[in-house]
Amino acid sequence: SAFFRDRVALVTGGASGIGYAVAGKLVGLGAKVAIWDIQKERLDECQERYGDRVLTRSVNVSDKAAVSKAMDELTRAWGGVDHLLNNAGIIGQRMTVQDFDGDELDRVLAVNLKSMFYVSSAFIRASGAESSRSIVNLSSIAARTGGMVGNIAYATTKGAAASFTYALAKELAPHVRVNALAPGVINTEIQKDVFADPASIEAMANLIPLKRLGTAEEVADAAVWLLSDGAAYITGVVLDVSGGR
Ligand code: NAD
Repeated sequence: SAFFRDRVALVTGGASGIGYAVAGKLVGLGAKVAIWDIQKERLDECQERYGDRVLTRSVNVSDKAAVSKAMDELTRAWGGVDHLLNNAGIIGQRMTVQDFDGDELDRVLAVNLKSMFYVSSAFIRASGAESSRSIVNLSSIAARTGGMVGNIAYATTKGAAASFTYALAKELAPHVRVNALAPGVINTEIQKDVFADPASIEAMANLIPLKRLGTAEEVADAAVWLLSDGAAYITGVVLDVSGGR
Protein backbone atom coordinates (compact mmCIF):
# COMPACT_ATOMS: atom_id res chain seq x y z
CA SER A 1 0.00 0.00 0.00
CA ALA A 2 1.04 3.59 -0.48
CA PHE A 3 0.16 4.48 3.11
CA PHE A 4 3.71 5.13 4.30
CA ARG A 5 4.90 6.94 1.19
CA ASP A 6 6.75 10.09 2.34
CA ARG A 7 5.34 9.82 5.82
CA VAL A 8 7.87 10.39 8.59
CA ALA A 9 8.50 7.74 11.24
CA LEU A 10 10.75 7.90 14.29
CA VAL A 11 12.26 4.67 15.59
CA THR A 12 14.12 4.74 18.91
CA GLY A 13 16.74 2.05 19.40
CA GLY A 14 16.66 1.60 15.64
CA ALA A 15 20.31 0.66 15.15
CA SER A 16 19.79 -2.97 16.19
CA GLY A 17 17.31 -5.81 16.48
CA ILE A 18 13.57 -5.11 16.28
CA GLY A 19 13.97 -1.35 15.74
CA TYR A 20 16.42 -1.90 12.91
CA ALA A 21 14.01 -4.34 11.24
CA VAL A 22 11.10 -1.88 11.55
CA ALA A 23 13.19 0.96 10.12
CA GLY A 24 14.17 -1.19 7.13
CA LYS A 25 10.59 -2.22 6.42
CA LEU A 26 9.31 1.35 6.67
CA VAL A 27 12.01 2.61 4.29
CA GLY A 28 10.98 -0.19 1.92
CA LEU A 29 7.38 1.09 2.08
CA GLY A 30 8.47 4.59 1.12
CA ALA A 31 8.62 6.25 4.53
CA LYS A 32 11.31 8.61 5.72
CA VAL A 33 12.70 7.21 8.95
CA ALA A 34 14.52 8.97 11.77
CA ILE A 35 16.63 6.53 13.77
CA TRP A 36 17.76 7.42 17.28
CA ASP A 37 20.19 5.20 19.12
CA ILE A 38 23.40 5.40 21.12
CA GLN A 39 25.48 3.02 18.97
CA LYS A 40 27.27 5.49 16.75
CA GLU A 41 28.96 3.05 14.38
CA ARG A 42 25.72 1.25 13.69
CA LEU A 43 23.95 4.52 13.11
CA ASP A 44 26.56 5.38 10.49
CA GLU A 45 25.99 2.01 8.83
CA CYS A 46 22.23 2.70 8.71
CA GLN A 47 22.84 6.11 7.19
CA GLU A 48 25.10 4.62 4.55
CA ARG A 49 22.72 1.81 3.77
CA TYR A 50 19.54 3.88 3.39
CA GLY A 51 20.97 7.24 2.34
CA ASP A 52 18.63 10.22 2.50
CA ARG A 53 15.61 8.05 3.36
CA VAL A 54 16.90 7.96 6.94
CA LEU A 55 18.13 10.56 9.39
CA THR A 56 20.27 8.97 12.07
CA ARG A 57 21.17 10.69 15.30
CA SER A 58 22.92 9.73 18.49
CA VAL A 59 20.27 10.36 21.14
CA ASN A 60 20.10 8.93 24.64
CA VAL A 61 16.34 8.61 25.02
CA SER A 62 16.58 8.70 28.81
CA ASP A 63 17.86 12.29 28.56
CA LYS A 64 14.81 14.56 28.38
CA ALA A 65 16.67 17.63 27.12
CA ALA A 66 18.47 15.61 24.44
CA VAL A 67 15.16 14.15 23.25
CA SER A 68 13.56 17.55 23.04
CA LYS A 69 16.48 19.01 21.09
CA ALA A 70 16.59 16.06 18.70
CA MET A 71 12.85 16.36 18.04
CA ASP A 72 13.26 20.06 17.20
CA GLU A 73 16.00 19.17 14.74
CA LEU A 74 13.91 16.41 13.20
CA THR A 75 10.89 18.64 12.65
CA ARG A 76 13.10 21.35 11.16
CA ALA A 77 14.60 18.81 8.76
CA TRP A 78 11.47 16.95 7.72
CA GLY A 79 8.57 19.21 8.75
CA GLY A 80 6.90 16.85 11.22
CA VAL A 81 6.62 13.30 12.50
CA ASP A 82 3.68 10.98 11.82
CA HIS A 83 4.62 7.69 13.46
CA LEU A 84 6.61 6.67 16.52
CA LEU A 85 8.09 3.35 17.62
CA ASN A 86 9.10 3.57 21.29
CA ASN A 87 11.51 0.67 21.11
CA ALA A 88 14.84 1.52 22.80
CA GLY A 89 15.35 -0.75 25.78
CA ILE A 90 17.82 -2.59 27.99
CA ILE A 91 17.57 -5.57 30.31
CA GLY A 92 20.05 -4.15 32.82
CA GLN A 93 22.27 -6.01 35.25
CA ARG A 94 20.86 -9.07 36.97
CA MET A 95 19.41 -8.13 40.32
CA THR A 96 16.84 -9.40 42.77
CA VAL A 97 14.67 -7.07 44.76
CA GLN A 98 16.79 -7.77 47.86
CA ASP A 99 20.12 -6.79 46.40
CA PHE A 100 19.05 -4.17 43.92
CA ASP A 101 21.32 -1.28 43.27
CA GLY A 102 19.50 2.05 43.22
CA ASP A 103 21.52 3.50 40.36
CA GLU A 104 20.96 0.48 38.17
CA LEU A 105 17.25 0.53 38.97
CA ASP A 106 17.11 4.19 37.99
CA ARG A 107 18.95 3.45 34.73
CA VAL A 108 16.57 0.68 33.65
CA LEU A 109 13.52 2.75 34.55
CA ALA A 110 14.92 5.75 32.70
CA VAL A 111 15.87 3.96 29.48
CA ASN A 112 12.83 1.69 29.23
CA LEU A 113 10.06 3.75 30.78
CA LYS A 114 10.81 7.44 31.27
CA SER A 115 12.01 7.55 27.66
CA MET A 116 8.46 6.66 26.56
CA PHE A 117 7.15 9.76 28.34
CA TYR A 118 9.90 12.00 26.95
CA VAL A 119 9.76 10.81 23.35
CA SER A 120 5.96 10.53 23.18
CA SER A 121 5.53 13.98 24.63
CA ALA A 122 7.99 15.48 22.14
CA PHE A 123 6.26 13.55 19.33
CA ILE A 124 2.84 14.93 20.28
CA ARG A 125 4.14 18.49 20.42
CA ALA A 126 5.72 18.11 16.99
CA SER A 127 3.45 18.57 14.02
CA GLY A 128 2.44 15.63 11.88
CA ALA A 129 -0.02 14.37 9.29
CA GLU A 130 -3.58 15.56 9.79
CA SER A 131 -4.78 11.98 10.02
CA SER A 132 -3.50 8.56 10.89
CA ARG A 133 -0.75 9.43 13.32
CA SER A 134 0.21 6.44 15.42
CA ILE A 135 2.50 5.16 18.16
CA VAL A 136 3.67 1.64 18.94
CA ASN A 137 5.41 0.90 22.26
CA LEU A 138 7.52 -2.15 23.09
CA SER A 139 6.17 -4.02 26.07
CA SER A 140 6.98 -7.72 26.55
CA ILE A 141 5.31 -10.91 27.69
CA ALA A 142 7.54 -10.38 30.75
CA ALA A 143 4.86 -7.84 31.79
CA ARG A 144 2.67 -10.85 32.69
CA THR A 145 5.11 -13.72 33.19
CA GLY A 146 7.53 -11.72 35.36
CA GLY A 147 10.32 -12.58 32.92
CA MET A 148 13.49 -14.38 33.92
CA VAL A 149 14.52 -14.32 37.58
CA GLY A 150 17.06 -11.51 37.92
CA ASN A 151 15.25 -9.20 35.49
CA ILE A 152 12.70 -7.78 37.90
CA ALA A 153 13.37 -4.16 36.96
CA TYR A 154 13.02 -4.99 33.27
CA ALA A 155 9.74 -6.88 33.78
CA THR A 156 8.39 -3.98 35.83
CA THR A 157 9.13 -1.46 33.09
CA LYS A 158 7.44 -3.69 30.51
CA GLY A 159 4.31 -3.95 32.66
CA ALA A 160 4.38 -0.18 32.93
CA ALA A 161 4.76 0.09 29.14
CA ALA A 162 1.43 -1.73 28.78
CA SER A 163 -0.30 0.58 31.28
CA PHE A 164 1.28 3.58 29.59
CA THR A 165 -0.19 2.35 26.30
CA TYR A 166 -3.73 1.98 27.68
CA ALA A 167 -3.63 5.44 29.27
CA LEU A 168 -2.00 7.24 26.36
CA ALA A 169 -4.43 5.68 23.88
CA LYS A 170 -7.27 7.34 25.81
CA GLU A 171 -5.44 10.66 26.12
CA LEU A 172 -4.67 10.92 22.44
CA ALA A 173 -7.90 9.54 20.98
CA PRO A 174 -9.29 10.16 18.46
CA HIS A 175 -6.28 11.81 16.82
CA VAL A 176 -3.40 9.43 17.50
CA ARG A 177 -3.69 5.65 17.85
CA VAL A 178 -1.45 4.07 20.49
CA ASN A 179 -0.74 0.35 20.72
CA ALA A 180 1.97 -1.94 22.05
CA LEU A 181 3.65 -5.18 21.18
CA ALA A 182 4.47 -7.87 23.70
CA PRO A 183 7.17 -9.97 22.06
CA GLY A 184 8.07 -13.32 23.55
CA VAL A 185 11.62 -14.54 23.13
CA ILE A 186 13.11 -12.91 20.04
CA ASN A 187 16.57 -13.72 18.78
CA THR A 188 18.27 -10.30 19.05
CA GLU A 189 21.26 -8.90 20.88
CA ILE A 190 19.30 -8.06 24.00
CA GLN A 191 19.03 -11.84 24.56
CA LYS A 192 22.75 -12.52 24.09
CA ASP A 193 23.62 -12.60 27.76
CA VAL A 194 20.50 -14.55 28.60
CA PHE A 195 21.20 -17.31 26.09
CA ALA A 196 24.94 -17.69 26.10
CA ASP A 197 24.82 -21.35 25.07
CA PRO A 198 22.81 -23.26 22.43
CA ALA A 199 21.43 -25.68 25.03
CA SER A 200 19.59 -22.90 26.87
CA ILE A 201 18.14 -21.64 23.58
CA GLU A 202 16.85 -25.11 22.88
CA ALA A 203 15.37 -25.44 26.35
CA MET A 204 13.59 -22.12 25.88
CA ALA A 205 12.35 -23.07 22.41
CA ASN A 206 10.74 -26.18 23.90
CA LEU A 207 8.64 -24.00 26.21
CA ILE A 208 7.23 -22.09 23.24
CA PRO A 209 4.19 -23.66 21.53
CA LEU A 210 5.60 -22.81 18.08
CA LYS A 211 8.89 -24.46 19.20
CA ARG A 212 11.32 -21.73 18.22
CA LEU A 213 12.46 -18.23 19.10
CA GLY A 214 10.95 -15.39 17.07
CA THR A 215 12.84 -13.11 14.70
CA ALA A 216 13.12 -9.33 14.68
CA GLU A 217 11.48 -9.38 11.23
CA GLU A 218 8.41 -11.12 12.61
CA VAL A 219 7.99 -8.53 15.35
CA ALA A 220 8.61 -5.77 12.80
CA ASP A 221 5.77 -7.05 10.58
CA ALA A 222 3.35 -6.65 13.50
CA ALA A 223 4.75 -3.20 14.36
CA VAL A 224 4.39 -1.93 10.80
CA TRP A 225 0.83 -3.22 10.64
CA LEU A 226 -0.18 -1.54 13.92
CA LEU A 227 1.42 1.72 12.76
CA SER A 228 -0.43 1.60 9.41
CA ASP A 229 -4.07 2.32 8.62
CA GLY A 230 -4.51 -1.43 8.22
CA ALA A 231 -5.07 -1.15 11.99
CA ALA A 232 -7.19 2.02 11.71
CA TYR A 233 -9.80 0.85 14.25
CA ILE A 234 -7.33 -0.53 16.79
CA THR A 235 -6.07 1.54 19.70
CA GLY A 236 -5.07 0.74 23.29
CA VAL A 237 -4.14 -2.84 22.49
CA VAL A 238 -1.11 -4.87 23.59
CA LEU A 239 -0.49 -7.57 20.98
CA ASP A 240 1.53 -10.70 21.79
CA VAL A 241 4.09 -11.75 19.19
CA SER A 242 5.33 -14.75 21.08
CA GLY A 243 4.78 -18.02 19.23
CA GLY A 244 1.99 -18.70 21.72
CA ARG A 245 4.16 -18.45 24.87
P1 NAD B 1 18.50 -4.72 20.85
O1 NAD B 1 19.45 -4.66 21.98
O2 NAD B 1 18.92 -5.42 19.60
O3 NAD B 1 18.01 -3.26 20.46
C1 NAD B 1 17.80 -2.24 21.42
C2 NAD B 1 18.38 -0.94 20.88
O4 NAD B 1 18.12 0.11 21.83
C3 NAD B 1 19.91 -1.02 20.71
O5 NAD B 1 20.29 -0.61 19.42
C4 NAD B 1 20.41 -0.07 21.78
O6 NAD B 1 21.63 0.59 21.43
C5 NAD B 1 19.27 0.92 21.90
N1 NAD B 1 19.32 1.66 23.15
C6 NAD B 1 19.61 1.19 24.39
N2 NAD B 1 19.64 2.17 25.28
C7 NAD B 1 19.35 3.33 24.60
C8 NAD B 1 19.26 4.70 24.98
N3 NAD B 1 19.46 5.09 26.25
N4 NAD B 1 18.97 5.61 24.02
C9 NAD B 1 18.78 5.23 22.74
N5 NAD B 1 18.87 3.95 22.33
C10 NAD B 1 19.17 3.00 23.24
O7 NAD B 1 17.20 -5.43 21.44
P2 NAD B 1 15.76 -5.75 20.80
O8 NAD B 1 15.47 -7.15 21.14
O9 NAD B 1 15.65 -5.30 19.40
O10 NAD B 1 14.84 -4.85 21.74
C11 NAD B 1 14.01 -3.84 21.27
C12 NAD B 1 12.82 -3.68 22.23
O11 NAD B 1 12.04 -4.89 22.22
C13 NAD B 1 13.22 -3.44 23.69
O12 NAD B 1 12.37 -2.47 24.26
C14 NAD B 1 12.98 -4.78 24.33
O13 NAD B 1 12.70 -4.68 25.70
C15 NAD B 1 11.78 -5.27 23.55
N6 NAD B 1 11.61 -6.72 23.65
C16 NAD B 1 12.56 -7.58 23.16
C17 NAD B 1 12.40 -8.96 23.32
C18 NAD B 1 13.40 -9.94 22.83
O14 NAD B 1 13.27 -11.13 23.17
N7 NAD B 1 14.37 -9.55 22.04
C19 NAD B 1 11.25 -9.45 23.98
C20 NAD B 1 10.31 -8.55 24.46
C21 NAD B 1 10.50 -7.19 24.29
